[in-house]
Amino acid sequence: MDNCIFCKIAAGQIPTTPVYEDDDMIAFNDINPAAPVHVLIVPKQHIPTLADCTPNHTALLGKMMLLAPRLAEQLGCGYQADGTGRGSGGFKTQFNTGPDGGQEVYHLHLHVMGGPRPWRGQR
Ligand code: 5GP
Ligand code: ZN
Repeated sequence: MDNCIFCKIAAGQIPTTPVYEDDDMIAFNDINPAAPVHVLIVPKQHIPTLADCTPNHTALLGKMMLLAPRLAEQLGCGYQADGTGRGSGGFKTQFNTGPDGGQEVYHLHLHVMGGPRPWRGQR
């Protein structure tokens, strides 16, 4: 997709340092982090929003969601169960969709944000 910043990053046309990459997706640090750890999981295929996804995207979405805890672990904000049912650590996963959802880049991406609850006091 012409003029899509995340397509350009996924295609290697804009240099970035991936924290993860495979045939279907790439993950890299958010340029304007909202948390000590803030990465974006981005499919290489251009899909504008979560609302554009169809059953054909089920496997891709599953892969994106399953990558989130793996990356969080790798980046030091994994969730540790401790047997109490609560545990420690952890991270937030977020898809923003459309203007009222706060979406700025119209290429599907999953935010993974972690650290010591930096969103405390926010919604
Ligand atoms: P959205 O609001 O669309 O859910 O999130 C878009 C995110 O992409 C924002 O958190 C923003 O900081 C990030 N972002 C926008 N442009 C770039 C870029 O060129 N490089 C990187 N690494 N992140 C970007
Ligand atoms: Zn794109």
